[in-house]
Amino acid sequence: MNKRHEHHLVMERELRKAIEEEQFLVYYQPQVDLNTEQIIGVEALIRWRHPQRGMISPADFIPVSEECGLINSIGEWVLRRTCEDMKSWQLSGFAPLKVSVNLSLRQLQEGALFNKISNILAQNGIAGSRLELELTESVMMDNHAVMLNFMKQCKDLGIHFSIDDFGTGYSSLSYLMKLPLLDKLKIDRSFIQELSGNNDASILVSAMVNMAKSLRLEVIAEGVETQEQLNYLRHCGCDSVQGFYFSPPVSYGELTRLLAQEVLSA
Ligand code: C2E
Ligand code: CA
Ligand code: CA
Repeated sequence: MNKRHEHHLVMERELRKAIEEEQFLVYYQPQVDLNTEQIIGVEALIRWRHPQRGMISPADFIPVSEECGLINSIGEWVLRRTCEDMKSWQLSGFAPLKVSVNLSLRQLQEGALFNKISNILAQNGIAGSRLELELTESVMMDNHAVMLNFMKQCKDLGIHFSIDDFGTGYSSLSYLMKLPLLDKLKIDRSFIQELSGNNDASILVSAMVNMAKSLRLEVIAEGVETQEQLNYLRHCGCDSVQGFYFSPPVSYGELTRLLAQEVLSA
């Protein structure tokens, strides 16, 4: 217990320093349309380049930043950096991309989140329709009233919403009906990794795609690593995919190169 507490305190102190010294980076992972195989969007994923310890995974520091409240500043920084990068791609003449940004529960509880988002979009001249917010099932349902109000405000700006890690949270699906402003389901990586032959995962993935379609939601699969997984998702009618098969998350410069390559090959 004490060791864990100590580790937290050290990390919290280091995270404060990281915010001040801008030790963070945003990487972008392409999301590819299954019909055209073109990049239609990217997910923004934070990285921490620690001066001594090198790259630290968000899985290690996001939970700590959520617990101590630093996620509010970190999340705002991610949004700002992402919108600045979108503005640069826009100025370079690339076709407008949609960017998905992950949100934590703490950020929603803060209250001022909508104003922050709308200011950052306006300051960078980015249309709300190019931003997608990713939330998990539990975040969406934990404060349903607050969430619904936030979604309504965002919808007025054209912002999209996607359920992250779909299939891993609630056992009851009735919440989907309580969130009429939802746009997309993102099927969790754990199902995609298990896909093979006619197994349970294949049946579940196909059912999730069908359910999304019936609810008029878009559906994306994450963690796609192999051609077999891709073929199966295409067969099911999934709209788009994200995963190492096409590209891992990459830096701003690397994504710019990928976008330029696509323009050349079009
Ligand atoms: P996530 O939102 O589920 O993000 C997808 C994770 O899957 C990313 O890990 C990505 O690198 C990884 N991934 C993508 N394709 C593949 C694949 O084909 N195979 C495998 N094995 N993995 C793949 P990453 O970047 O380490 O992020 C971990 C988690 O940290 C994210 O999970 C998200 O929950 C959180 N996170 C990252 N950036 C942010 C942020 O800016 N804000 C918040 N609140 N959370 C963030
Ligand atoms: Ca995500
Ligand atoms: Ca996910």
